[in-house]
Amino acid sequence: MKTFGLLGSGIALAFALGSPAASAQQDPPITLDTHVDIPFAYMREPRFDFGKQTPLQVDLDKMRRGGLDAVFFIVYVDQGPLTPEGWAHAVAQAKQKYDDIDLMVKTYPDQIRLATTSDQVLANKKAGRLSAMIGVENGYSLGHDIKNLDIAYKHGARYVGLAHMGNNDLCSSSTPEAALGDTPLPEYSITEFGRSVVKRANQLGIMVDVSHSSDACVREVLALSTSPVIASHSSSRALDAHPRNLSDELLRAIAAKGGVIQAVAVQDFIRLDPARELAIKALQAQVAKQAGDKSFDSEKHEYLPAYVEGMKRIDAALPPPNVDDFVAHIKHMVEVAGIDHVGIASDFDGGGGIAGWSDTSQTRNLTAALRRAGFSEADIAKIWGGNLLRVWGEVTQRATANRAG
Ligand SMILES: [Zn+2]
Repeated sequence: MKTFGLLGSGIALAFALGSPAASAQQDPPITLDTHVDIPFAYMREPRFDFGKQTPLQVDLDKMRRGGLDAVFFIVYVDQGPLTPEGWAHAVAQAKQKYDDIDLMVKTYPDQIRLATTSDQVLANKKAGRLSAMIGVENGYSLGHDIKNLDIAYKHGARYVGLAHMGNNDLCSSSTPEAALGDTPLPEYSITEFGRSVVKRANQLGIMVDVSHSSDACVREVLALSTSPVIASHSSSRALDAHPRNLSDELLRAIAAKGGVIQAVAVQDFIRLDPARELAIKALQAQVAKQAGDKSFDSEKHEYLPAYVEGMKRIDAALPPPNVDDFVAHIKHMVEVAGIDHVGIASDFDGGGGIAGWSDTSQTRNLTAALRRAGFSEADIAKIWGGNLLRVWGEVTQRATANRAG
C-alpha cells in the first residue's frame, strides 16, 4: 500500500510538471487479468458486492484505483465424484456463478460490461468502462454433456479450463487427488469427452485452457486443437518446480501453437517456502477450530479478523514473494516462449496475491516492476493484455473455419 501511494504521487508529479517521463509512466493501453475467482455468495451478500467496499481482492473501487481494465471472472467448481449426482451438483454450482456474474454486470452497467469478444474489451475501455469476461475453471461443471459447453458459450464463457485439482472425466490433473481415488501417475491423459470438448471449443471460439491439466494432457490438447491454446494461470517450473507450473518444453510448445501463458501470482508457484506453508496451514487449522468447523473454508474463514491478523504475523516473520520475484518468472517465460506469448493472472480471491500486488488496487506496482526489469512500454502492453487479446481474436476468427471443417 505504501509503495503504491508513493508511486501514485510520483505519477501525479510527473504529469503536473509535464515532463517527458510522464508519457512513459502512463498505464498500458489495456491491463487484463485472466484469473479472478468469486465466492459462492458473490453479489448475494453486501460484503461480496462488486460495487461496495469489500474484503475481496477485486472489486470496482480497487479496479479503478489500480487502473485494471479487464478481468476474467471464474466459474469454478470443486472436483467431485464422476457420478450423475456429482455432475448435476457441479452444473448447478456453475449456473449460480454465471447468474452472479450476470447480476454484477446488470447492477453496474455504467461501470462494467460483459465482453464476449476482444473488440468489446477495447470498446469498453474507450467508453470508460471496465470489462468482465468469463472463464470456466474445471470442465467437470459441463456435467459430462457437451451441450453444456454451448450453454456456457451463451452465458459468455470464452475459455474453458479442462481440469482442476484431481483427475476428471476430461483429462488427468497436474495435481491428482488421492482422496478422489486418483493414482499419483495418471492412467490417462485426455478422455473421449475431453477430446469432444476441445473440438467443440474450437468450433465455438472458446479458448482451451490447459492450466491444471497434466503434462500429458497438455501435449494431447496441443496436438488436437486447431486453434491456439492458453494457460490461464501457470508460472515457470524451471524457477519453481511446482507441478502447477509449466516446463520450458511446454512453454515453447504453447508458443509454437500461437498461444499464451499467463504467469500467475500465487506464492507457492513463485517460490516454494515450506516453513511459510506450514505456518499458514497451522493458522488455517486454528481459525477453523475457533469457528467451530472441522476444516478451513476460505470463503467462510479467510476474511475473519483472526485469520487476517495471523497472516500479518506470518508475513512479518516469513515474507512472501514480491512483485520482483514474480517478474523474474515473467522474464524467464518471455526468454523461453517469446514476448508475444506471455501474460498476467492474479488468481485473486482464489489463493493469489504477493507482496506489492496483494490486491487489484496495487496493479501499478506490478507495471513498475516490469519497467524495473527492463521491459519496454511495447513489451508491457503485450504482457498486460495485448497477447491475450490477440490469441482470443484468433480463436474467434478460426471458429468459423473450425465449424466448416
Ligand atoms: Zn486454479
